[in-house]
Amino acid sequence: MATSRDYYDILGLDKNASEQDIQRAYRKLSKKYHPDINKAPDAEEKFKEVNEAYEVLHDKQKRAQYDQFGQAGVNGQAGYGAGNGQYGDFSNFSGFGDIFSDIFGGASQRHVDPTAPVKGDDLDYTMTIDFMDAIKGKTSNVTYTRSETCEVCHGTGAEKGTHPITCDKCHGSGYMTVTQQSMLGVIQRQTLCDKCHGKGVIIEHPCATCHGAGHTDKKQTLEVKIPAGIDNGQQIRLSGQGEAGKNGGPYGDLYIVFRIRPSKDFTRRGNTIYTTVPISFAQATLGDEIKIKTVNGETSLKIPAGTQPGAKFTIRGEGVPYLRGDGKGDQISTVEVVIPKSINDKQKQALVDFVKAGGDSITPQEKNFFERLKDKLG
Ligand SMILES: [Zn+2]
Ligand SMILES: [Zn+2]
Repeated sequence: MATSRDYYDILGLDKNASEQDIQRAYRKLSKKYHPDINKAPDAEEKFKEVNEAYEVLHDKQKRAQYDQFGQAGVNGQAGYGAGNGQYGDFSNFSGFGDIFSDIFGGASQRHVDPTAPVKGDDLDYTMTIDFMDAIKGKTSNVTYTRSETCEVCHGTGAEKGTHPITCDKCHGSGYMTVTQQSMLGVIQRQTLCDKCHGKGVIIEHPCATCHGAGHTDKKQTLEVKIPAGIDNGQQIRLSGQGEAGKNGGPYGDLYIVFRIRPSKDFTRRGNTIYTTVPISFAQATLGDEIKIKTVNGETSLKIPAGTQPGAKFTIRGEGVPYLRGDGKGDQISTVEVVIPKSINDKQKQALVDFVKAGGDSITPQEKNFFERLKDKLG
């Protein structure tokens, strides 16, 4: 029977759990309640609950539907099976590492050989790096936990010197046919073999190291080359660094997603760097050549006489390197004219002289600026 418990509760997570949290909780709990390991009477029921919750929450689309509509959003067509482990319409379950998830295949007849090799799950890792490291590139270590093929049993789950034997109840298919009375009459359908729990094999002497799972969790550290120019949200794939496969299948992949800390000096959009250049009224008026910061160090910028506030200067090739191909983006620097908040008497006199010399107000007034200035200064 499908559970009515909250999927997040089942996995011991809250609604903000990351994909990694979900994977980790699933791995832990599915191992804990695995019927081959846990002989408690309710273990199998709990195991099914955990699988059901995982099947929905690890799928972005199903999770979104579940968050919005609850179970009604993910049940698909109506009608849970009557207590024999047959659930509603969960499609797209292929490739999921544990054969128990095939329980969610519902009435579809897409039975795969439970002993066929299956690629391991992919893992996500979020790496937060400094602004400049994203531009220059860097080598950094990641440490994470993944399942690895058990070294003792080489993934079979059977103790050294023994082998899993083909299940005599389902003859290795992992499924059996049940007959059921329904409103529409007697129907027959396929369900997981209750002897081997869908594995197609029985492990009489489980491996002591992995308790029959065929894999164990291991911490590993990898050296990651962060490519120069990587941007926020971009990811790289490390092939074969994900979870162990099943039945001799290959490892999944590790995806490293980058988060980039902001810089106080630069703003980045794609390969373009944006900066603000504060200059004085005099520099804007008379022109100047100044040094400005770039992500590559420093460059000189010519401010022509009469530069207006908000004027933009493009400095070619001082932006972010392109991930693919050669070259770099540009830097665009916007001029900010800084008006002094206070000036001394000498400066004041110089400005009065400036106005006297014809620096009138821009908008015509009854009296000109100099006359008004004279009134104000007495
Ligand atoms: Zn083992
Ligand atoms: Zn069986």
